[in-house]
Amino acid sequence: MIRTLKNVIRNVICMCLLVVWRMPKSNGILLTFDDGPDPNVTPAVLDLLRQYGAKAMFFVSGCCIETAPELLTRIVAEGHALGNHSFAHRRYRVLDWKKCADDLEKCNEAIAKYVSELVKFYRPPHGQLGWAPFLAVKKAGMRYIRWSVSIRDWELRDVDAANVIPEVKRFGDILVRQVKPGDIVLLHDYENPLVVEALKIALPVWKERGWALDQWDKCSSLHFPRQELK
Ligand SMILES: [Zn+2]
Repeated sequence: MIRTLKNVIRNVICMCLLVVWRMPKSNGILLTFDDGPDPNVTPAVLDLLRQYGAKAMFFVSGCCIETAPELLTRIVAEGHALGNHSFAHRRYRVLDWKKCADDLEKCNEAIAKYVSELVKFYRPPHGQLGWAPFLAVKKAGMRYIRWSVSIRDWELRDVDAANVIPEVKRFGDILVRQVKPGDIVLLHDYENPLVVEALKIALPVWKERGWALDQWDKCSSLHFPRQELK
């Protein structure tokens, strides 16, 4: 009971202070992709987004960057936002806040080798809430972006060859059914080629509904703790 109460209080504080859960005042949606860049999947994601005029956020893992650094420049050049998804993708509940902050900074440095834009957005591995990532993001002067919809798309990584078509349709239909204006949608590009196929079902529907798919910069108008990021 006490632990539950503590969790509730902690989550409310995080929500009120620095964590973004939904797009502010938007008739659009924000697609976010975690764990990349992946040289085998991210280019196909970018091609598809370009086809629909969609702009997304890519929360990259620092340890993956060297496998395809050119994708960082492509992401920025095509008008998407880069986010920090930690360097080593470790669960922060096993790290103290200083180690968490160091890991965050290490990812920022890995990104800065290839792009000059300041990275403003942070999503810790598994979207964990807690004091460690909270203090780390505050120290870095960034914003913590979570999500309002997760369709558990990582399960597409384990689909048998015989079930690809029905599973892709099932996940595409879930996206169509669950995502609403204002939502921030959690997706994964790393080792997940079928997420592209599921998006091919949902994107034309969203487009037809007239939803804006290019509004990640709405998040840029949010308050950032560090003055120079405003
Ligand atoms: Zn992740």
